[in-house]
Amino acid sequence: MNNWGQSKNPRNWGRRKPHHRRGVFTLTPIIVICLVLLAACHRNQEQNAELFVFGTIVEIKLWGASQEQSDDAFAQLQQMFNGMHRDWHAWEPGRLTDINKAFANGLPATADADIVAMIRSSQEIEQRSGGRFNAAIGALIRLWGFHTSDYPVIGPPPDQSRIDELLSHQPSSQDIHIDGLQLSSENPYVQLDFGGIAKGYAVDLAIERLRELGIGNAIVNAGGDLRAMGHHGDRPWNVAVRNPGGGIIGAVQVRDDEALFTSGNYERFRQDQLKRYPHILDPRSGWPVEDVASVTVIASEGMLADAAATALVVAGLNGWPAVARELDLKQVLVVDESGTVYLTPEMERRVQYSGDVKRVIVDIGIRR
Ligand code: ADP
Ligand code: MG
Repeated sequence: MNNWGQSKNPRNWGRRKPHHRRGVFTLTPIIVICLVLLAACHRNQEQNAELFVFGTIVEIKLWGASQEQSDDAFAQLQQMFNGMHRDWHAWEPGRLTDINKAFANGLPATADADIVAMIRSSQEIEQRSGGRFNAAIGALIRLWGFHTSDYPVIGPPPDQSRIDELLSHQPSSQDIHIDGLQLSSENPYVQLDFGGIAKGYAVDLAIERLRELGIGNAIVNAGGDLRAMGHHGDRPWNVAVRNPGGGIIGAVQVRDDEALFTSGNYERFRQDQLKRYPHILDPRSGWPVEDVASVTVIASEGMLADAAATALVVAGLNGWPAVARELDLKQVLVVDESGTVYLTPEMERRVQYSGDVKRVIVDIGIRR
């Protein structure tokens, strides 16, 4: 899979910032009462950890979990994320690169249940987005030099003839046959790249694991792409909607179980003397998409929100309402190159803006 950012901070999970500090010196009756209250509070406080994952920091916040429960949860999540890094990376040798090699050689390959789940979702979203989301274009992404952690990539775009050559083979996730965990591709040009969907699935799996551990209130936040469940004490979780120009557009209060993902054309790109070429590619033209700066989607699952945000960037300023309708997304916010915000009425009701924002409400016609 693609990397999740450029930060190279050391692994530092387990840094916790408790809200309440105990400071008890003598056991008078009043202090005994305080101790009992503090013990009760202890279960209500926030537990934080920052896990270093795929070159970026994932912040986890839990509410109402004991310290023991939190320590165990943070350790399990770190282990899970390490496994995903190993298995899903688009260019570091591992399970996915093995699968891609097998496809290129016309051979079958063995996947695991998570990779199969991502392929199935990719197939569905590719189909419903009219091919704007396409997880099989790894060769094109590589051709543009985006299989790297070092941005910006410097240099002119690839030769049109090489882009045309790749497009002529029409790689599609639909070319992949799945039989249990056995995969094969009838098209040797299919090269899986989960950069547009894996973060969403990782966050889904993290929330699922926390739930299995008996934790009901949590947020898993990978640099503004996140999923949350439950509450932060007696209030909802509050999250930021990122602004492509820097800072934030506003805040959203997360309802019980929701994911919020932003795909942007502003952080990772290729650059030559003439211009910037962003890292989200239109699979139909083979070129980066340019009229949208970012798309933010709220949906119930991270995997859909992540892939859908990428698909809507590709759909562009004219195309996003129709694709959002096809994907059944009601809460969408699009920022164009000049900073104007286009959003659905359902999204408008969710955002508390942090300043003056020029915005246009677009009714995309989903009535349910
Ligand atoms: P962000 O970097 O903002 O999280 P995305 O979630 O949109 O962006 O993921 C971008 C990544 O998705 C790219 O780096 C590449 O690996 C992959 N990608 C690029 N274009 C497409 C596309 N049209 N369909 C599917 N995946 C894509
Ligand atoms: Mg995405």
